Amino acid sequence: MSFSADIVTLFPELFPGPLGASVLGRGLEAGLWRLRTTQLRDFAPDRHRTVDDTPSGGGAGMVLKPDVLARAIDAVSPRNDPRPRLLMSPRGRRLTQARAHELAEGPGAVIVCGRFEGVDQRVIEARGLEEISIGDYVLAGGEVAAMVLLEAVVRLIPGVLGAPESRREESFEAGLLEYPHYTRPQSFEGRAIPDVLISGDHGRIARWRHEQSLALTRERRPDLLPDDPSP
Ligand code: SAH
Repeated sequence: MSFSADIVTLFPELFPGPLGASVLGRGLEAGLWRLRTTQLRDFAPDRHRTVDDTPSGGGAGMVLKPDVLARAIDAVSPRNDPRPRLLMSPRGRRLTQARAHELAEGPGAVIVCGRFEGVDQRVIEARGLEEISIGDYVLAGGEVAAMVLLEAVVRLIPGVLGAPESRREESFEAGLLEYPHYTRPQSFEGRAIPDVLISGDHGRIARWRHEQSLALTRERRPDLLPDDPSP
């Protein structure tokens, strides 16, 4: 069974978007993963197809109604569905490469895209939605966040990307940022490719790359290093 993603959204026309391009798009066509979108509005019972209402207790914006969202989730994901149910949300736990691996090894995901001020808390609890954030900033809706999550996950599915070893050395895979890359020409605007990379000495190259990774991580992301004293 291939990885199967269900997206609940007010804007299904945004998908597959970037997920339909290049290797991910070819993987989709080849059936290595599946994508289905569901229009939340189709689950509104009234003539005006209302999906939102004013916040209880007052305040700005609108809140997605729990009954409509629950109906949509139940339609795409029956009670015994083994897939995790995710809600894209700036309040969620931050998406990491480790979580992307976990998801890629599983059966897929049901992903709810929020809009407006967000989602009624009761449907989050009643349907066991796991809130996931893609970073500490606020988007206008969950659709782009869902694409970010799926792009990070789907490229890890076996067969989607070419060579699996190109993944092992990437940023975050070893807990470090990746070393710098070079390719021909040998001289670019007076800048040469570091000698070690054309030495043919694979041991030296590996050591150099590791040192570069460490130095970059120390400089830019000391929080990734295990002995980081900052909280
Ligand atoms: N009022 C909310 C923000 C709502 S933004 C708050 O302050 O927390 C509208 C929708 O965009 C959210 O429901 C969520 O689905 C999506 N969204 C916004 N920022 C996001 C982020 N950093 N990560 C994931 N989803 C996000």
